Formats: sequence, structure tokens, C-alpha cells
Amino acid sequence: MANIKCVGLLTSGGDAPGMNAAIRAVTRASIYNDLEVKGIYRGYKGLITGEILPFKTNNVSNIIQQGGTILKTARCVEFREPEGRRTAYETLQKEGIDALVVIGGDGSLTGARIFAQEYNIPVVGLPGTIDNDLYGTDTTIGYDTALNTIMQAVDKIRDTASSHERLFFIEVMGRDAGFLALNGALASGAEAAIIPEIWTEVDQLEELIKNGFRKTKNSSIVLVAESEITGGAIGMAERVKKEYPQYDVRVTILGHIQRGGSPTASDRILASRMGAAAIDALMEDQRNVMMGVQDDTIVYVPFSKAVKKDKPINRDLLNTLRILSI
Ligand code: ADP
Repeated sequence: MANIKCVGLLTSGGDAPGMNAAIRAVTRASIYNDLEVKGIYRGYKGLITGEILPFKTNNVSNIIQQGGTILKTARCVEFREPEGRRTAYETLQKEGIDALVVIGGDGSLTGARIFAQEYNIPVVGLPGTIDNDLYGTDTTIGYDTALNTIMQAVDKIRDTASSHERLFFIEVMGRDAGFLALNGALASGAEAAIIPEIWTEVDQLEELIKNGFRKTKNSSIVLVAESEITGGAIGMAERVKKEYPQYDVRVTILGHIQRGGSPTASDRILASRMGAAAIDALMEDQRNVMMGVQDDTIVYVPFSKAVKKDKPINRDLLNTLRILSI
């Protein structure tokens, strides 16, 4: 068994609902295993500035249902430089922290990987991101909640879209991954999703209109993944106004609403399982791995795979969406 006495815990990068459930699980599983646990505030920033407090079980009482993260989160440019990471390592030594649990997305786990390579400290990660874009896990913490938020918002927009017989482009998060757009469209009965995975392959807007879009309906909803390349929902609406002026087009950008709210049961359970698994992993001498769930089973995914490999989207779902939107 690994000789770990004190676990440091932080949340970093974009916040996601369910991060608190993960903090609770990591804290309680540490204490259950007779480990000390310390909460590091504001992600890697707190690691550099030493904003750290010991956590007891009651520090994490009554948070499983809260969105956001009680540890706060931040983006930290200093941690991208070797000097910043050296200071972070010195903080860990000073605090007596001998293992680290990082909850965050792609960027945060990349930072964790680099840090763990430079310094001989066991680091494990939890995938905390609404985008679901980490390889090796079926879903990430926060994705299901964001998907439900999108579904509820689209349900509301549909009422006005159908009353005014309008075409709505609704922009959702996920600039590199279309999981929210595609599954959000399926869940809300939208006509189509425009996703980054196939931007370079087809002109999705043209396909949509060519395929007899709005043959039988007077209103339509299209979910669009945010993008600097296509201009997202605004870019699509501008093109429609120019190329297909017969449509009465509107845009809604859901924005940060997608990050907030009480986590769904699914996200709470996922975060709880992964948080407890992170401590199991450390006790088993694992390091440089992200917790994942595949086919309802916990797996350890090497950081290198989790952040570097592109998670494939199920393209069959695009076809299902097309069939169901006739
Ligand atoms: P997310 O974790 O949600 O993807 P970011 O991409 O903003 O969010 O990353 C969060 C933080 O992780 C950054 O502010 C930085 O401190 C750290 N980080 C990201 N990429 C690297 C890197 N290549 N090297 C070191 N640290 C990194």
C-alpha cells in the first residue's frame, strides 16, 4: 500500500455541476481511510499562493446538491510555467501534502500530468467538465446536468418558436466536442445539431436545408456548438439571412446558464463513485490516472490518453436525429 498520509484536493478550470459531490466524496473517502485531507482553494492558484485549509467531514456537509465548487476555481497562467509549478511543489511540501486529487477538464488534467512528470508526487484526476470531452470515460461530471439544463431551455424556446413560426439557432457550449449539441438536440426534439466533429467534412447548414428541412413544420430549432470558426449560432443566422431570406430567424445563446444548477442524480452518483475511486487508486499506488466510468465500471485512464485522444462522438445519433425530424 502507498505511503500516503495527506491528500490535497482542488478544482480547476471551468466549473461543472457535481464538483461539490466529488469534493465531498474525496474528502469522506480520505477520512474513512485514515488519511488527512486538505482543500486547496482556487485551483492551481491556491497551490502557488498556499490558500489551503484542512478538511473534516463537516466541511463537506450539505454540499452534494449544490452547483459550482465550494473550493472555487480559477485559471492560473503561472502554473503553465516551470517556475510556478516549482512554487506549487514547495507549497505541497510545506503543507505535508503527499498526494494530489485534481478535479477539472482537459486543461487542468494536462497541468496535472505535467506536474506529476516533473515532481515525484502521486496525482490522480477526476473528469469535471460539462463538455464530456475527456477520452476514456463514458461521461464526465457535470455533463448530464448541463444536458438537462439545455433540454429545459429548449423546451421553453420551442413555445415561442412555434407560436411565431420561427427558425431558432440555439448555441450551446462545446467548442471542440458536439456531445451537448447533439444529445441536447435529441433530448429536446430539435430538428438538427451543428457539431464541430464534422465541420470540415460537410457544410452542415447547407445539408440541413437541402434535406428538406421544414417540409412539414413551420418552426424549427437547431442546436449549434459554439465556435470561433463558424461563428456559432450568430454565424449560422447571418448565413441564413443572406442565403435563405425566406426564414424568420432568431438566435439564443444559452451561455453560462449551462454551467449552473443543482447536479442531477446521475452526476451526483458519478461524482461520488469517482471521488471514492480516486482514493482507492491512491491507496493502490496508482498515479497519473484519471478516474473513468466505462459500461458502469470504474476504470483508471492514463492522463496521457484522457487528454490527448479525441473522444469519438456516436455518428449514428446524427442519423437518428435526421430521421426523427421529418
Ligand atoms: P479546463 O480544465 O476546464 O479545461 P483550462 O484549459 O482553463 O480549463 O485549464 C485550467 C488550468 O489548468 C489552467 O489555467 C492552467 O493553470 C492549467 N493548465 C492548462 N494547460 C496547462 C499546461 N499545458 N501546462 C500546465 N498547466 C496547464
